[in-house]
Amino acid sequence: MRAPALLLIDEPAAGGTAGFVEAPHDAPVVRAMNFAVTRGDGIFETVGVHDGVPHDVEPHLDRFELSARMLELPEPSRDAYRAAIARAVELINEDGTPPTAFVKCIMTRGVEGTDAGPTGWVYAGLYPDMTPVRTTPARMVTLTSGFALGIGAEAPWLLLGAKTLSYATNMAAKREAVRRGADEALLITTDGYVLEGPQSNLLVRHGDRIVTPAPDGGLLHGTAQRAAYDFFSSQGLSTEYGHVPVASLADADGIWITNSVQLVRPIGWIDGNEIPFDADLTAGLVDYLVRRPDGS
Ligand code: PLP
Repeated sequence: MRAPALLLIDEPAAGGTAGFVEAPHDAPVVRAMNFAVTRGDGIFETVGVHDGVPHDVEPHLDRFELSARMLELPEPSRDAYRAAIARAVELINEDGTPPTAFVKCIMTRGVEGTDAGPTGWVYAGLYPDMTPVRTTPARMVTLTSGFALGIGAEAPWLLLGAKTLSYATNMAAKREAVRRGADEALLITTDGYVLEGPQSNLLVRHGDRIVTPAPDGGLLHGTAQRAAYDFFSSQGLSTEYGHVPVASLADADGIWITNSVQLVRPIGWIDGNEIPFDADLTAGLVDYLVRRPDGS
């Protein structure tokens, strides 16, 4: 296994140099009073690297900027992060191209009690073989988010739709799903609509229509979901964003979750209901997402 790579961004906020420093992957880089540690106050993006190619770098940087705006952080330096991502990919490809890797980009509010400004770094590592996950139907349970649909617009301080470093509740939802005998969690609203998984978007098929919850409902607009829509359109299916009632899942003709690294996972069971699994369509989707030429 190749060593992970760590690159420390000299000036994470826009307007500075685009420099970074390569560091040992286990270097202690965060101070004890960094806002990331004391308050989970910062943002991140995880770029998938498939057969050595980083996918959707610019859409990830767009969302990184959006998250910064939502948290009222300084605008991140696109040039610095873009350059560090490119170098991180070179490093992980050095001993041969791994099938699946990730590059995590982080910017925190800085260090409490100082005027040091934001802290930023990029960390790249390898993933295990994702093939079984992408091709075997998984079991999913719905869990309440505690919110009603659209609360994000009413209460922007909840930061719904921002990719913040406060993921403890997302991880807790994943553990709860496992406790309930499932592989995946699906967060839903108190008024009965689908949001997203703790680390994924949900795509639902009914006949020739694919629908995913609209991002303005209070969730992340996924990069892998957008790519999956390109594939489904190419197969003659219509794709749309909407408000997806939880009740509509039971008679779905197919359900998938997507994210940048795992890419796709078919769902074969949700809250006690069997969901049809189209192995050929799923195989085509996986192939498209891994290989699509326009990865950025
Ligand atoms: N929703 C949440 C909460 C996530 O954390 C993620 C990614 O980790 C996604 C959706 C999927 O986004 P993407 O496809 O850009 O990885």
